[in-house]
Amino acid sequence: MSKKINILDDITINKIAAGEVVERPSSVTKELIENSIDANSTQIVIDITDGGKKQIRITDNGSGILSSEVDKSFLRHATSKIKKIDDLYDLYSLGFRGEALASIASVSRLEMITKTKEEPIGTKVILEGGKEILKEPVGTKNGTTIIIKDLFFNTPARQKFLKSTHAETINISDLINKLAIGNTDIQFKYINNGKLMLNTPGDGKLISVIRSIYGKEIVENLIKINEKGEYCSISGYIGNNNIYRSNKNLQHIYINNRFVKSKIILDAINESYKSIIPINKHGICFLNIDINPSKIDVNIHPTKMEIKFENDKDLYIEIRDLLKRKLLNTALIGKYESYD
Ligand code: ADP
Ligand code: MG
Repeated sequence: MSKKINILDDITINKIAAGEVVERPSSVTKELIENSIDANSTQIVIDITDGGKKQIRITDNGSGILSSEVDKSFLRHATSKIKKIDDLYDLYSLGFRGEALASIASVSRLEMITKTKEEPIGTKVILEGGKEILKEPVGTKNGTTIIIKDLFFNTPARQKFLKSTHAETINISDLINKLAIGNTDIQFKYINNGKLMLNTPGDGKLISVIRSIYGKEIVENLIKINEKGEYCSISGYIGNNNIYRSNKNLQHIYINNRFVKSKIILDAINESYKSIIPINKHGICFLNIDINPSKIDVNIHPTKMEIKFENDKDLYIEIRDLLKRKLLNTALIGKYESYD
């Protein structure tokens, strides 16, 4: 017997979609901080309890949301960042899919307090499992605070897959480091279970953020990069031949200020280090690669961590050669002399 076909209700749709964007506390944290960045904030405070499993609180001093727009922000496919598909090819914001808030709200207890500078009073809303249970005007400062409690309280199967507080905390700390490195003009303050973990100055200097996170030894062994090629411009820092790691954890790559996982760019960087550092070791880098947004596609995965390039081969060669030249010019202090 053929079965009846159901049209799913919005809450069910959001919960299913949340499976793609909201995998763990660090993915919630990422979406919320990216929203704060897109709102032109200059200060973002992140306060985490129990690896984000109990609570994630993000406070920013950005644009805020008009009281008449607050409900809309929790709707699926509701975004202020694009209007039409062509806008994706001229995109400078981190968000554009309009699904993070809808997804996160559907699997948590969410509270938002927000105020724009255009309005004298702000708005507070509380949602549980995507249903609004309170909305009232509230006196508050300009900007937005979002508090996420009890992630996956209504999807026990997902909750079971959360890792230990320690493991979830490491994920969140890594993520905050990455976002702080990519946004040097924003002051990031990160508090974990009441302890201050990171406080970047927000002075626009990449080296200040690297120093806040990794300390003096790394900073003293960095080479400044500011190169313009045919397909891209590269700026930031790479490690000299005195510092390297056995893993790739200190290879931070950003495309147009969005941190990404890009095998092709990592390969280009590692290739440029060949014969400069020992085999099987990895150089350190904090690099932003600027590419014309019309030459890349960021819409290939919901988390937007992957990117497609129009001309990967040219890009690979250009990045490899630019870095190699810089490394050969400045990094070789005689320790590993056999290079070709
Ligand atoms: P997207 O970021 O893809 O637009 P989201 O679901 O993350 O979608 O957010 C929906 C909308 O809510 C955003 O487009 C923005 O207008 C608004 N918004 C979300 N967070 C903030 C924030 N911290 N400050 C100002 N506006 C926000
Ligand atoms: Mg967003």
